[in-house]
Amino acid sequence: MKAIRGATTVEIDSAEAIKKNIKSLLSKIVEENELCEDDIICIMFSNTSDIRSYYPAKAAREAGFFNCALYSSVEPDICGGLKKCIRVMVLAEIEKTPKHIYLERAVNLRKDLTKKLNIAIDGPAGSGKSTIAKILAAKLDILYLDTGAMYRTVALACVRSKIDVNNALVVKNLIESIKISIKYENGTQKTILDGEDVSDKIRTPEISMLASKVSAHECVRTSMVNLQREIAASNSCVLDGRDIGSNVLPNAEHKFYLTASSEVRAERRMKENSAKGINQSFCEVLCEIEQRDNQDKTRKIAPLVKADDAIEIDTSKLTINEVATLILGKVQEKI
Ligand code: C5P
Repeated sequence: MKAIRGATTVEIDSAEAIKKNIKSLLSKIVEENELCEDDIICIMFSNTSDIRSYYPAKAAREAGFFNCALYSSVEPDICGGLKKCIRVMVLAEIEKTPKHIYLERAVNLRKDLTKKLNIAIDGPAGSGKSTIAKILAAKLDILYLDTGAMYRTVALACVRSKIDVNNALVVKNLIESIKISIKYENGTQKTILDGEDVSDKIRTPEISMLASKVSAHECVRTSMVNLQREIAASNSCVLDGRDIGSNVLPNAEHKFYLTASSEVRAERRMKENSAKGINQSFCEVLCEIEQRDNQDKTRKIAPLVKADDAIEIDTSKLTINEVATLILGKVQEKI
């Protein structure tokens, strides 16, 4: 269940104006969130005390919302608050990130909810990107897009087709013959290869290394970057990767570059791997991480690099919570 927020205002306190603006507000909420009647559990209104002519809940019932619970209440008078304002919260059974709707004089009320947010987090393997990106996405109630999963999926497709990942031409033919897509289940990203959910199968050390190799080809990057831009254009999301701030979304308003010493990153990766039953020595993991960083930093197309306007954070000595709080604070400063 998700909460969709919204508000509108009326210029005169009349039943007609209230009914008209409530109808417009609810229609827009339904349309933008692709709601069916049965999705809506309840609609709660609160209005400023200068609205006396009509109950917003009654206006909603008359606008056709018959099957859900409706409720109206009056807000306390707050000095300097918006006049003749009606706020709404719609509780609905939806999977997608809610689209909040603010109309009339209420348009600027919650810029933090209505503005599309794209947060770019780049950095080398094990710097904490995905852990932090997931926390931020959950706190801000927006999507998390793991772009590395896309390159990993191309690598898996190469393994399955027994293709040499270094051969640009055969990789290009493969890319043209497969379909990679992203879907979300309960807010969790699922990476789909030709209709199959491969989200777990792409998390092996072998695929990590092959993803780094395959991601150097122009055909692979063009195809994956197009998909990433498409998702970012229509959703608020936190994207993590290697080239998000520098190449995928160069105009993103929020850019971060996470780093940590190779030893710390290897240690973190070892812990992650052993939780999945993959046992490698510290030296093996360290060597793999350094090799992969080197490949990612030295490739010709869109290498791993800190965008000039990205904020760099060394996570070596910080806890996960400290990094998340730091980034969240920086994002909120700008909203
Ligand atoms: O982040 P993750 O370790 O899953 O990424 C796997 C590989 O995919 C990276 O080593 C990198 O080569 C490639 N990648 C990339 N650009 C991105 C994300 C990942 O080249 N935006």
